[in-house]
Amino acid sequence: MNDASQPVLRDIVLVGGGHSHVGVLRDFAMRPLPGVRITLVCTDAHTPYSGMLPGYVAGHYGYDDVHIDLSRLSVFAGARFIRAEVTGIDRPNRRLLLRGRPPMPYDLVSINIGSTPQVDQVPGASAHAVAVKPIFQFNQRWLALLARVQQHAGAMTIAVVGGGAGGVELTLAMLYRLRKVLQDLGRDPQQLVFHLFTADATILPTHNTRVQRRFATVLRQRGVQVHEGAAVQQVQAQRLQTADGRWIAADEIVWVTQAGGAAWLAETGLALDKRGFIRVNDRLQSITDPRVFAAGDVASMEHHALEKAGVFAVRMARPLARNLRLALADKPLEPYRPQRYWLALISTGDRYAVASRGPLSFAGAWVWRWKDWIDRRFMQRFAEFPEMAPSPRAASAAPGLPLTEQESLQAISAIAMRCGGCGAKVGASVLSRALGALAPVQRDDVLIGLHAPDDAAVVRVPPGMAMVHTVDFFRSFIDDPYVFGQIAANHALGDIFAMGAQAQSATAIATVPPGLDEKVEDLLTQMMTGAIEVLNAAGCALVGGHTGEGSELALGFAVNGLVDASMTGVLRKSGMQAGDVLILTKPIGTGTLFAAHARMAARGRWIQGALDVMRQSNQAGAQVLMAHGATACTDLTGFGLLGHLVEMTRPSGVDAQISLSALPLLDGAVECVARGIVSSLQASNVRLRRALRNQEAYVAHARYPLLFDPQTAGGLLASVPADRAADCLAGLHAAGYEDAAVIGVVLAQDAAQAPVVLQD
Ligand SMILES: Cc1cc2nc3c(=O)[nH]c(=O)nc-3n(C[C@H](O)[C@H](O)[C@H](O)COP(=O)(O)OP(=O)(O)OC[C@H]3O[C@@H](n4cnc5c(N)ncnc54)[C@H](O)[C@@H]3O)c2cc1C
Repeated sequence: MNDASQPVLRDIVLVGGGHSHVGVLRDFAMRPLPGVRITLVCTDAHTPYSGMLPGYVAGHYGYDDVHIDLSRLSVFAGARFIRAEVTGIDRPNRRLLLRGRPPMPYDLVSINIGSTPQVDQVPGASAHAVAVKPIFQFNQRWLALLARVQQHAGAMTIAVVGGGAGGVELTLAMLYRLRKVLQDLGRDPQQLVFHLFTADATILPTHNTRVQRRFATVLRQRGVQVHEGAAVQQVQAQRLQTADGRWIAADEIVWVTQAGGAAWLAETGLALDKRGFIRVNDRLQSITDPRVFAAGDVASMEHHALEKAGVFAVRMARPLARNLRLALADKPLEPYRPQRYWLALISTGDRYAVASRGPLSFAGAWVWRWKDWIDRRFMQRFAEFPEMAPSPRAASAAPGLPLTEQESLQAISAIAMRCGGCGAKVGASVLSRALGALAPVQRDDVLIGLHAPDDAAVVRVPPGMAMVHTVDFFRSFIDDPYVFGQIAANHALGDIFAMGAQAQSATAIATVPPGLDEKVEDLLTQMMTGAIEVLNAAGCALVGGHTGEGSELALGFAVNGLVDASMTGVLRKSGMQAGDVLILTKPIGTGTLFAAHARMAARGRWIQGALDVMRQSNQAGAQVLMAHGATACTDLTGFGLLGHLVEMTRPSGVDAQISLSALPLLDGAVECVARGIVSSLQASNVRLRRALRNQEAYVAHARYPLLFDPQTAGGLLASVPADRAADCLAGLHAAGYEDAAVIGVVLAQDAAQAPVVLQD
């Protein structure tokens, strides 16, 4: 999490988690700049390291060996990680446009998004070939190809288009792996035939002739048919045509040719080269806009023609970080001078590699071991983090950051407020600008709402209806205010849906850390946009609220719902019947996962998976449960599964049996509790273990601690008549609750014993 004790004065937004930006993040982790907030916006939480990809394809490495966990790295760097796709830049207003969420302001932006395949230039290639770029989606395409090859019966031909280092290395890696796979399946590995096509007169045209000869020999020995001077000009289903008119049949066609810049860059008004990459000067700064930097494949240096290789992207990290710091301080930037010769270690698939540097070349198994050592050492820098001293406090904020007079005053008052100087409401103009952009859902029963401000909102209760009231409030546990807003709203609505009610209206209460007006306004806008989207989707009108300054970002809602005044259809905790089955609609584990996240002990994909589940509404789930005769229901929150279950069994006068192996769990939850990482609320929840009849028998079970794990925006726990359980579960799965499961049964009460029985 960002250090909330420091007011944010400047925003650097890093677009794309490429090889340069991971280095920039590490640089800022080691030397944080007070007052500067770093935000990484990336489509994925894990980014591949190109140097090890061929080894991954060949089967020498696993997924986590070759992927950098951007979410963890961001925690280490004190940076915000936003999983999103950037689709454009509104440069006049200094905002990034993001798919499906509010624009994001920046003071400086840096782009490191790699390259995009240019399959459109050859007819049929986009439809019938597997593009290797963009590299960050490579894994899905490779796994799909791997599965298809295994399912293919008989002989099979694979054509690789592109004879550069990527194409040659990939051909040899695929050949090694796929032949091994066939061998393991008891099939003839020689049934696989490989063709390699290059438009150039030779393979590896940017390397010396000794390297070219070595690889020509290896390819020949492995039976790869190399077609040099053979530009592919057309692709159709299972065949391709070369420039001389020949057609060659191929079951799979893999595209590893030159790539270009992402299409959206053309709309930014930035100067691009003819392949669509951002033209940058020696300071890695766009030649059009000094606030925009670019590095890696997407940067086209004005005075240096660089190969599109990960090695350059890595090398650019340090000068990029330095120039971002200098640019914020309004100091002259420093040039980056790429090396003339660079060492390429190109593997042949079988733990053997060839070194290429200018006119030099050498090869051997030892070269592969050397490459493996270099690559693993590089990855270690992004996986194992040193203990860091706390960063300087706010009172010394931002040495070297040139601020306007107004910004200085706002920064000083933010620090004063933290010192207990003047607890205050957020400034009226900031608030009204942030709230003015919100469009709550229109409802006839809202008589005075958000945009007709008065001392309070006025809402009518429709005839024959009764009101359901609930309130929830908690501080942000993630650095993405938009997603936090969505989860806070979803969490608050959970009680309404668990009662079988419809959501009608909500008032919000929020605290935001003080800072520059524009930063506070953006924080509020992001958070409330997320919240209002969720409230609107539930048909719930935001009618008002209160925002104050506080040491941490926090948000809560008082939500009002409606039920039939006769109480028909109201789901209570007390209706469980012996013989019912227990259904849980969503997986559990948020408490341990976010405790681990704060300690950099959770994988990024676990956290992203948990956030996706936390954003899933309980509205449809409640409807499915009611349609299948649910007898009781509650939503899982702070007391954890056992706490909420006991809240149901007690008033229902029943007992319950829970099957630990049937519990749906979030990915990573078991790993985190196994390491002893639990939420700070766990200890008080564990006191309820006395409600377990056979606790001693299961206390060592890997899933046992998760009975007490507090949930945020958890799923619904309901009892359903046994004969309707299968249909109910099918309905929940169809409604998108993929992990919904029967987790136990309701038993007749044994008043003499603890109410909950565990089984495996
Ligand atoms: C199979 C293969 C093997 C290779 N082997 C080598 C090698 O051994 N050595 C070598 O030097 N080079 C190698 N390369 C080339 C190398 O992969 C690229 O040059 C390198 O990945 C470029 O790095 P980058 O930092 O520019 O971007 P990338 O590594 O491509 O990273 C781009 C990042 O931006 C994110 N992103 C993209 N678009 C958006 C968006 N709109 N919004 C938000 N985020 C976005 C992605 O999720 C990703 O995290 C290989 C390439 C391939 C395909």
